[in-house]
Amino acid sequence: MTTEQFSVARKTVIVTGSSQGIGRTIARQFAADGANVVVTSRDESKVETIAAEIADETTDGEAIAVECDVTNRDEVDALVEATVEAFGTVDVLINNAGASFMADFDEISENGWRTIVDINLHGTFHCTQAVGPVMRENGGGVVINVSSTAGQKGSPRMTHYSAAKAGVITLTSTLAYEWAEDDIRVNCIAPGFVATPGVASQMGVDVDDVDRDSVSRRMGTPEEIADLAQFLASPASSYLVGETVTAKGVPRIEETHEV
Ligand code: NDP
Repeated sequence: MTTEQFSVARKTVIVTGSSQGIGRTIARQFAADGANVVVTSRDESKVETIAAEIADETTDGEAIAVECDVTNRDEVDALVEATVEAFGTVDVLINNAGASFMADFDEISENGWRTIVDINLHGTFHCTQAVGPVMRENGGGVVINVSSTAGQKGSPRMTHYSAAKAGVITLTSTLAYEWAEDDIRVNCIAPGFVATPGVASQMGVDVDDVDRDSVSRRMGTPEEIADLAQFLASPASSYLVGETVTAKGVPRIEETHEV
């Protein structure tokens, strides 16, 4: 079997929220495959460190660091501008930046609710709308949104996050329909639990705790999500449009004997 169709070499890829976790792994993996990546988050020093790390690791793809808060439209526009200036266009946008906190619905302040919806849903809106004209001018592109299984079935003490991530899923299918004629494919990933610094701080689970020799697959690794992102970014997924691909390690089943 040829693997060429899975390649992202020479693509220009923006990965939002790539200072750590899934985003950082996607940026490193895509660059290792020959992509030019834009490493971006709210923390300039962190993204500069990651971009330098990528430059040390690979000579195939290039990496630049750009500070950008996805909730701020001016910063998002500047991110897209900086990308075009550095690499000429944007081929792939990965809307990975996300955040949450756990709280009962009654405890969530309006500010807390807005913050979570703003980062997860509004940030995806800003970045996607900002790259649209560049991708159209380029004759097409790929947008990959990152939702969550929380956005499909809900998650305890996460009404704000679940609602925002559910919005990301229907944004994906609706926009995929709208932008299909521009050859911009929009798809989405819905991960289950993935061992990242974000999850470590909320749940105390470390990536070293993930045992792939065991049959239990309740916790995924950032690499497993990056592999899926690479598939969705590559020509190998050309027949997938408007889909949300669930990666959660355990089968979807409605009823179990567990209580
Ligand atoms: P982490 O919490 O480990 O990292 C989140 C990243 O998002 C950081 O790079 C952070 O950068 C960035 N970020 C947060 N807020 C903003 C903002 N306003 N603007 C720009 N960047 C921002 O997350 P994960 O790697 O765990 O998750 C990545 C994505 O996957 C998220 O969308 C998350 O919701 C989703 N997901 C994760 C799951 C998991 O179990 N890990 C499960 C399901 C979905 P900085 O702080 O430097 O700005």
